[in-house]
Amino acid sequence: MTTPQGLRLMAVHAHPDDESSKGAATSARYASEGVDVRVVSCTGGERGDILNDKLKDDADILRDISGVRRREMARAAEVLGVSHTWLGFADSGLPEGDPLPPLPEGCFALEPLTVTTEALVRVIREFRPHVLTTYDENGGYPHPDHIQTHVVTMAAFRAAGDPAAYPHAGEPWQPLKVYYNGWSPERMERLDEAMVEAGHEPPYADWRANLRRRPRRVLTTRIRCAEHFPQRDDALRAHATQVDPDGHWFAVPLEVQQRVWPTEEFELARSLVPVDLPEDDLFAGIRELADPDEVCRRAPERDADGELVLAYEGQPPLPVDEDAPDVAARSTEPQDADGDGQDDMRSEEGHAG
Ligand SMILES: [Zn+2]
Repeated sequence: MTTPQGLRLMAVHAHPDDESSKGAATSARYASEGVDVRVVSCTGGERGDILNDKLKDDADILRDISGVRRREMARAAEVLGVSHTWLGFADSGLPEGDPLPPLPEGCFALEPLTVTTEALVRVIREFRPHVLTTYDENGGYPHPDHIQTHVVTMAAFRAAGDPAAYPHAGEPWQPLKVYYNGWSPERMERLDEAMVEAGHEPPYADWRANLRRRPRRVLTTRIRCAEHFPQRDDALRAHATQVDPDGHWFAVPLEVQQRVWPTEEFELARSLVPVDLPEDDLFAGIRELADPDEVCRRAPERDADGELVLAYEGQPPLPVDEDAPDVAARSTEPQDADGDGQDDMRSEEGHAG
């Protein structure tokens, strides 16, 4: 059994603050156990709006938003107990309007895939993670940087262990599993119910309605991490320009969350080691290896097309119940039921970057 001290986890995110809203308590838990956790931010979040009303007109922040976001990110990493790397690409922004305007020149989503993939391969070969996390193919919600983060992470997962790929980007290293961050509609439902029982309005009614219009994912992995929820919240608050301290992230008291839903969910997308699902550990199947590093250094088996031979490949989203009233609207396209010209998940996502 490999001790936590020998294990490494890399969480790849689009913008600074995503690492604190998706899988943050899981990162904090593994870090506290001695796993080496690295957060990678693909972009600097330079095109994010200031979403905290109390800071909207702050002249110092407006003068240097990217500097402010770098300091916020450093603080969040410190709170979570993780190390952090900037991949160095420019935020694509969230295009809005009908028709959508073109993406800004030179942004992350428009960079050639070989350039972005090589940058991530270099970081993977340097940090040598056994497990990667990223977003599903829809990006969780349709932000161009989130979708690109998925594409680049999956390309880097395929290439990092290939000695012929990006030979100037370090010694080959093959991560053994890649996960998508999950978002459980049941969790929102249970939390809403608990709040109603306590005599409050359900804080997530709109969010749940928006989730019902998105493809449903098959969540394979639940990580118990309730004791790290306070760190998650502190890390979120560290992104002060992006997170309203009175907003929905903090609408349910911590003790209610810890009692009602003490886990974070993930979707296993690819594994080179045999797995037994559902699981409760991102390193399941890896801890059991005599020498995980040796396996990651070895060139992985590939088929005739050069694709990795997988022990497990993720399932497509669940088939849609054709009788459900919201089927027509179920979509990976931007959704705008309230007609405000913005995707309805935008405010729930908690950032515009
Ligand atoms: Zn983001």
